[in-house]
Amino acid sequence: MKRLSDIGEFGLIEKISKKFESDDKIYKGIGDDCAVLENQGEYTLMTTDMLVEGDHFNLDWQTPWQIGWKSIIVNISDIAAMGGLPKWCLVSIAFSSDVKVEFAENIFDGMAEASKKHGMAIIGGDTTHGDLLTINVAVIGKVEKENLCMRSDAEIGDVICVSGDLGKSWAGLELLRAGKRGYTDYYLQPSCRLQTARKIAPHVNAMIDVSDGLSSEVRHICDESEVGAEVEKEKVPISDKTRKTGKKLGIDPLKWALHGGEDFELVFTIPTERLPLIEEENPIVVGKIIEEGMYLINGQKKELGEGYDHFN
Ligand code: ADP
Ligand code: MG
Repeated sequence: MKRLSDIGEFGLIEKISKKFESDDKIYKGIGDDCAVLENQGEYTLMTTDMLVEGDHFNLDWQTPWQIGWKSIIVNISDIAAMGGLPKWCLVSIAFSSDVKVEFAENIFDGMAEASKKHGMAIIGGDTTHGDLLTINVAVIGKVEKENLCMRSDAEIGDVICVSGDLGKSWAGLELLRAGKRGYTDYYLQPSCRLQTARKIAPHVNAMIDVSDGLSSEVRHICDESEVGAEVEKEKVPISDKTRKTGKKLGIDPLKWALHGGEDFELVFTIPTERLPLIEEENPIVVGKIIEEGMYLINGQKKELGEGYDHFN
């Protein structure tokens, strides 16, 4: 009998998506960073993400404030990826009974700070018992029709861009796993690209945020847009700090950029002639959309490979 590790996170999502019916208010159900609902000339965005102790965070490394902060950022990043603005949010949380009240409050302080910074209100949730600290955040956002950016809108000939350097989060995680010190700030307390997303949204074709690594995100764009992609190895932006961490640990940082995740940068496609319109946001061109296949170009063509999968 097959197990989840055999089919992976996305194999399961594909099966789930066949079980649910759509209706004419649902502009997009499963398959993008947010669900999109049609609402009198505007779109409502809905997204949710769950963080589980030991898998998404480790209490030895992260403060409760940082865990709360991150639980909000990962969701706002999905709203940003659609070109929208976060508005309201519901927080569900499972605590074990021996958790200190101050610890619990600190989680919510981190959540409150991240929400306030991005103009979002926490309007409710659920609190229950669980042996592992588990946090689920659901965010509702809005986007004007002309700003909606889907994974499915890439066009052949578009360039593929990223909004900033990649691999920085995974670099920090690997340092912490190895019990070493160094550049761990970004992993522990990431930011997301809401402002950039709002500025580029009117001009780009497809957009997605980086939660599972560049190769995974490019693959999602290709699958949903029914196109292919070429990414140039030399153009993938990796900061000096991330490279230094790679050296320290004996790991090629390109692996973190392509197959790691949690950078919460944006990956988007745009026709070359529109690039000057978003110049101020410093887009970094890493490749182009082609008819089919997914390749990493480094002198020769190689398959781009997979991103991070929670079951593998
Ligand atoms: P992201 O990394 O942007 O948060 P995911 O990879 O988690 O996106 O999800 C991809 C798509 O699958 C989204 O449209 C999401 O709503 C959907 N999805 C994921 N898990 C489930 C689930 N358990 N039930 C229904 N839809 C799901
Ligand atoms: Mg996403």
